[in-house]
Amino acid sequence: MKNICVIGVGYVGIITAASFADLGNRVVALDIDQEKIAGLKNGKMPIYEPGLKELVDRNVEANRIHFTTSYEEGLKDAEFAFIAVGTPSGVDGEADLQYVASAARSIAEHINKGLIIINKSTVPVGTGDWVADIIKEQNPKAEKFAVVSCPEFLREGSAISDFMQPHRIVVGSLDAEAAEKVAQLHLSLRAPIVVTDLRTAEMIKYASNAFLATKISFINEIANICEDLGADVMEVSNGMGFDSRIGSSFLNAGIGYGGSCFPKDVKALAFMAEEKGRHPQLLHSVMEINTDRRVMAVEQAKSLLGSKDLTGKTIGMLGLSFKPNTDDMRDAPSVTIANLLIKDGAAVRAFDPIAMEEAAKLIPGVEMVESPYKMAEGCDLLMVNTEWNEFRQLDFRRIKKVMNEAVLFDGRNIYDPEKMAKLGFRYRGVGRGYNGR
Ligand code: NAD
Repeated sequence: MKNICVIGVGYVGIITAASFADLGNRVVALDIDQEKIAGLKNGKMPIYEPGLKELVDRNVEANRIHFTTSYEEGLKDAEFAFIAVGTPSGVDGEADLQYVASAARSIAEHINKGLIIINKSTVPVGTGDWVADIIKEQNPKAEKFAVVSCPEFLREGSAISDFMQPHRIVVGSLDAEAAEKVAQLHLSLRAPIVVTDLRTAEMIKYASNAFLATKISFINEIANICEDLGADVMEVSNGMGFDSRIGSSFLNAGIGYGGSCFPKDVKALAFMAEEKGRHPQLLHSVMEINTDRRVMAVEQAKSLLGSKDLTGKTIGMLGLSFKPNTDDMRDAPSVTIANLLIKDGAAVRAFDPIAMEEAAKLIPGVEMVESPYKMAEGCDLLMVNTEWNEFRQLDFRRIKKVMNEAVLFDGRNIYDPEKMAKLGFRYRGVGRGYNGR
């Protein structure tokens, strides 16, 4: 059993804190957001994530996890302090490190001898050294401490199992003893542990996310070519994915990636490269292709409706979150698409199983409707933005009856074009023959 403090109780922090508690450690989860901590003390989760409430409740009950806003309390007995605060995009695409800096300053005030500070946040290469400098500068009396990078690779929607069964753990430090202790802390996860230096560990995270984003933009580029040449991108990715050198994941064509990680991390990596005088062409293409996907969705809607603009049309959105099983709306394609549709004159209605409350804050002009069937009423076109499982089972006969026109743009390729055509829908997926082949 180790004493751990997790600083920042957002998507990554709450999963990290609750999972380490579940592994038998004593965890204090710390956040400066008083409302979030008060909520957690009352059993209210800060985010939606399958299985999270049960995990937190179980560990609260077992007295293994506590919540606080006080650094003094959080760091009192801590041997390990994970930094899991946000690192959003700054104005020029760089990672904004203000939250990391403020966490480092607060750690400096309450640091214990031998504390190991572990960066879980995705931070630019060199940030670990910078955090150590802040602590030394802020508290010259700070006794021996170490900074280790241990980037997080979990995916929202499957965050607990990703944390508990990771593909690998990356541990980066110039302090071999600290790296060994952090590796030991993760031993029970039985994952390969890659021990490296601090900067390399920081880069592994960016390179991994940029590579996955590249796969998505690659298949989207192929989808465009498939559409022009009459091939089906779904079968192309299936055929490609069996090749173990390629792999089948992240090869789903659609309206592109979103969320709080890929967009900002690709941007931040390009920024780092440019700062050093490089021209990261591939990263720029990945971003450009992804931005175009959102515009393409609106163009597809217009083309399906056969109109130059969308004045007088009502469009219904199936799904708002950037991916299924999360309420995270950060940089969700649906937000850009909804704004473009509205700008083009459409009235937009939407249904999402979980994310409507979050979405309403970002796209107040969109009418949120409590069921997909009600939402479809009077619509001229439905658009799938998020591949929620429950959308696969919808009764499209019922939906067709209430729609003004039976038109469907499937931005995530979850339906069978032939079946949709048989049901009488004017259907279009991404990178597939129109109305089936
Ligand atoms: P988030 O915005 O959900 O949570 C960050 C939390 O940090 C907030 O609750 C905020 O109140 C708190 N915070 C800010 N400043 C603080 C301070 N000085 N002291 C204590 N708490 C403070 O962010 P997130 O999505 O959990 O991401 C955290 C980091 O993990 C980011 O760098 C992100 O890139 C990375 N990451 C995220 C994911 C993901 O799926 N969300 C996956 C892997 C890595």
